[in-house]
Amino acid sequence: MASAFLARASDNDFYGALTSRAASIEAQYRALTAASAALIERARQVFPGGYTRDALMRAPYASFVVSGSGSTLVDVDGRRLTDLWFNATSLPLGHAHPDIVAAVRQQVGDGTAFYAPTEHELALAELLCGRVPSFERLRFTNSGSEAIMIALRFARAYRDRPIVVKFEGSYHGSYDDVSWSVAPQLQRAGSAGQPIPVPETAGLTGTDGRVAVLPFNDPTRLREHVRLHHASIAAILVEPMANRIGLLLPDREFLAEARRLCDEYAIALVFDEVIAFRVGYHGAQGLLGISPDLTALGKIIGGGFAVGAVAGRADILDRSAPGLANRVTHAGTFNGNPVTAVAGLATMTALTPEVFAEIGALGDYVRARLRAVLDSLPLQVTGTGSLFKVTATAQTIHNYRDAASADKAWEATASLALLSAGFLLTPNLAGCVSAVTTREELDRFLDAFQQIVLT
Ligand code: PMP
Repeated sequence: MASAFLARASDNDFYGALTSRAASIEAQYRALTAASAALIERARQVFPGGYTRDALMRAPYASFVVSGSGSTLVDVDGRRLTDLWFNATSLPLGHAHPDIVAAVRQQVGDGTAFYAPTEHELALAELLCGRVPSFERLRFTNSGSEAIMIALRFARAYRDRPIVVKFEGSYHGSYDDVSWSVAPQLQRAGSAGQPIPVPETAGLTGTDGRVAVLPFNDPTRLREHVRLHHASIAAILVEPMANRIGLLLPDREFLAEARRLCDEYAIALVFDEVIAFRVGYHGAQGLLGISPDLTALGKIIGGGFAVGAVAGRADILDRSAPGLANRVTHAGTFNGNPVTAVAGLATMTALTPEVFAEIGALGDYVRARLRAVLDSLPLQVTGTGSLFKVTATAQTIHNYRDAASADKAWEATASLALLSAGFLLTPNLAGCVSAVTTREELDRFLDAFQQIVLT
C-alpha cells in the first residue's frame, strides 16, 4: 500500500514545474495587490499575524474586498474577481441578491434584535422542517460550530453516554470535541485502519474519553469499533459530503452501515450538513436516501448572515423544552435573529428544486471540463452538486489518507496564480458555483487554470 502514496518521479517533475515558479507567481500577486499589502500590515497590529478567521490565511496575504455583487467581487486594489467560493459556500444566490437586500433593509429598519421571539425565525424553521423529513424540531444557533456543539450535547443527553465517534480528515468547526484528526500529519496519525486521535489545535489537553477517531469510508472498521464500544457511544458524527476529503459523497454503504449500527445500539446518527445542505433540495441526506437523527446546519440557511441550526428527532430535541428536569440547555443572544431569519427565508424560498438542478448542472459542467483538461495529469477532480475540488495527487481519493498525499504547495501556488488571474478559490483549490455563476465565467476560469497548469 505504502507505494501508492509515493509520487512517481514524473509526478514530482509535473508539480515542480509550477512550484519552481512560486516566487515569480508571488511577485506578480504582490504587484497587483499593493492596497491589500498595506491593509495586512495594519491588520498585523491588531490581529495575530493579521487574521481573525483561519480560513482566510494564505501566503503571502489575502486580497481585501470592498464589495460584492452577483458573482463578482471588487478588491481594495480595484480588481474585479470572479468568486468561486462564495464565502465558503454560504451564498447560493451570490452577493447582494435583490430579494435578500430588500428583506434585510426592511428588517433593519424594523429593528435588528429583540429580547423576544419574532415570526421570522418561526417562518424559516417551518420552511426547513417542512422540506426535510428528518427535521421534526429545530433550534437556531449563530454558527455551524455552535450547531455541532449543541447537537453533540443533545446526543450525549439522549442516552447519557460520553463518546462521539468522528472520522479522520473531517472538519466540523472549531468546537474542542471535534478538533481531532482534522488534517493530522501522517507520521503522528497511526495506521490507516486504527488512526490515533491527533489534536488539530494547541490547547487541547486530551480527548478525555469524549471522542474516538475512525477511518472515513470504512464500514468494517466502524462495525468492529461500535460492536465493542457501543455502551459508551453517544453519537456517530459524519459529514455526508466530506468537504476536506475532496467535497465527495461517502460510499452509500458506509453511511448505511452507520445508520444500521445507530439503530441497533440506540446511538444518535449526526449529519454535519453545514456545507452538504447545499448539494440538493433535501440536502445530502435526501440525495443519499439516509436519514440521520440530528443534522447540523449553517451557511446557506442564513442568506449571508451568521447562522447555524440543529434539526432532527423530536424526542431528542424536546429535551430542551422548558420545565423539564435535567433539560438540555441552549442559550444565545442572537439565536433566531430576525435579520438572519429574513435573509435565510428569502434564500431558502428562492432555492427551488429547479434552482438546485441548475446549480448542480453547472457543477457537473466545471468538473467535466476540468477532468477533460487534467485527465492525464497527476491531479484529481472531485466534488458533488455545485462543489468541486482539484487535488494534486495521482491517488484516487476515497478517504483522508488518499487526500493527504496531495502536494499542498502545488495547490497553493496554482490558487495564488488564479487569484492574480482574477478567480477566488481556497488555497487548496476547493470551489463552488452559485445561481449567479455563468458558463462564460467558468470557461474563462478553465482557460486560466489550463494556462497555469500547462505552461
Ligand atoms: N462543519 C462543516 C462541514 C464546515 O464546513 C464548517 C465551516 N466551514 C463548520 C462545520 C463550522 O461552521 P462555522 O464556520 O459557521 O462555525
